[in-house]
Order: sequence, then C-alpha cells, then structure tokens
Amino acid sequence: MLPDSVRVISGPGCPVCVTPAGYIDAAAEIALKNDAQLLTFGDLVKVPGIRTSLEKARAEGAEVRTVISPLEALKAARENPERKHVFLAVGFETTAPATALAVRHADEEKLANLTFLPAHKLVPPALEHLVRNNCKVDAFIYPGHVSAITGMAPYRKLAEQDVSGVVAGFEAEDLIRAIFAIIQACDRGETFCLNLYPKVVSEEGNLIAQKLMKDVFEEEDAAWRGIGSLPASGLRLRPPYERFDAWKAYDIVMDAREQEGCLCGLVLTGRMEPQDCPLFGKICRPENPSGACMVSSEGSCAAAYRYSMGETT
Ligand code: SF4
Repeated sequence: MLPDSVRVISGPGCPVCVTPAGYIDAAAEIALKNDAQLLTFGDLVKVPGIRTSLEKARAEGAEVRTVISPLEALKAARENPERKHVFLAVGFETTAPATALAVRHADEEKLANLTFLPAHKLVPPALEHLVRNNCKVDAFIYPGHVSAITGMAPYRKLAEQDVSGVVAGFEAEDLIRAIFAIIQACDRGETFCLNLYPKVVSEEGNLIAQKLMKDVFEEEDAAWRGIGSLPASGLRLRPPYERFDAWKAYDIVMDAREQEGCLCGLVLTGRMEPQDCPLFGKICRPENPSGACMVSSEGSCAAAYRYSMGETT
C-alpha cells in the first residue's frame, strides 16, 4: 500500500528474536542435567540455540511446559512442590513487571521450587545503540506496549539528540497514521517526538510497573542476539531475590557465541531486508527456522515470509 518513497524497515522489536542463542542452550542444559521443569512462553520453544532448541531438548526428555504468564509459572510451582521449576523470563519492559511480580510472590510465599532465568531486555539502550551506529532513518516508530510502561521520557531524551519518532499502536490504521504523521513532520523539517497512542501510553508511563521493576531488578550489560552486548540493557535480580536466580542456582554461564550462518543481527538492526538473507524461504522457513526472526509471528522474517509467499515459493 505504501508508495516507493516510503520505506519501513524492522528493528530489534521482537523479544524472542533478540534472545541470545546461548540462552536457549543454557535453559535446555538446566532441564536435562537437573531434572527441572522449564516454564516458557510458547514462542521460545522453536527458537534455535547454538547446539539445540527447547523443542529438541523436549525430544531428549526435558520437560518443557508452555505458559502464558509468569503468574502461571507460580501456580505450577505451588501445585507441584516436589518438582523444581524454572521460568524462562524473556521479553521487554512489557513482560518484565509481571516477572517482577511473580518473584515478589515467590519470595512472600517462600517458594523453594521455583527459580527464574532472566534475559529481559530494555528498549531504550537498543535505540541508543542504533543511533550511535548511524542507523539512517528519518524517524523511529516506537513500540506502543513497551511505551505504556516506560512513558515518553526515553524518546524525549532521544529528541534532544535530534532523533525523531512517534509512538504508535499495532493495528494497521495505527501504523498508517504513524507513517502519515512522520511524513508530515519530515516535510516541516523539524525534530519531533509524538505520542499517537495516548489511549494506552501516558507521558509518565506506568509508575507502578516501573517501581516494581526497580524494586526487584537492577540493570546490567546484556547480550542481544546478532547485536552483541549493550550496556545497561538487561535486568538481573537484585541481591534480596538472588536465591530465585536460576543462573546462580544451577551455576550456569551463557555461551556468548552466535548461531552459525545466522544473519538475523543484520535484519534486527535494519541493515538487511529479510528477503536478502540467502537462507530466506529456502532453508529458513517458519516450520523449520534457521534463525530466531523466522520463529515468532512478531519476527521480521516470519512476517516477510507470510506476506511474500507468492514471490518466494
Ligand atoms: S531468513 Fe532466517 S537466518 Fe536469515 S535472517 Fe531471517 S531468520 Fe535469520
């Protein structure tokens, strides 16, 4: 629908896609070596690690159960006190507060059979990384649901560095409105920072969720798939909650290597269109993904595949 003069490129906006390959291997290792049940969002099950995936680990005997929220993980641990459970805590600011709440409950209830494997990511440091690395876009479309938590402050800060953007929702009309606003603002030749999703996003964001995250987590440098380590872009449990940290409880370290042949990092940083990856639609398809961007329906390559089937098959 868009004219050739408007190009929309994807960024690191899918939480599953940016979860490092080594994280998947670490989770599989915990389940296989320690006989712990993994509790995970469904999207993560097919994501390839360096050596394995949760799907393959399941075939080797690991118990991998899908849940729709960290609170469901809490329920599973309560219902089966004899069994060790590990919740795979991935996602952006949208999901981190729910993990924080689950940790709080686990602490209050003194649950001894539930730990968390945190790999939460923060969006503003990724945006700053793109800006620092000369990402040549006229404006960003900022993620609406993350912004519901963060509010507008991170984007106001970017605007001070002459970086423009608009917060938008996810429906087609939200995105068209965002693109239209960007074109109009670019025509005026000024830096802009607009909230086009005010029914969900307030200026200050969700203060209760922000406080919960700050109480339970502290920032740390974190690895992003295909991008590498970004300063203060991840969350680890604060010392009072350390006993719930599965990295420590199972004495496991994440392998920092990238998955071989995977070019998802180029897609995630807007330097390559999914269709330009040599594996796209040939070896790498949604039913047999080679990279993380082909797994989740939010992934750039999965979306490109779904909407360009005619051209690729
Ligand atoms: S086509 Fe597959 S391997 Fe290539 S960038 Fe996309 S997900 Fe990664």
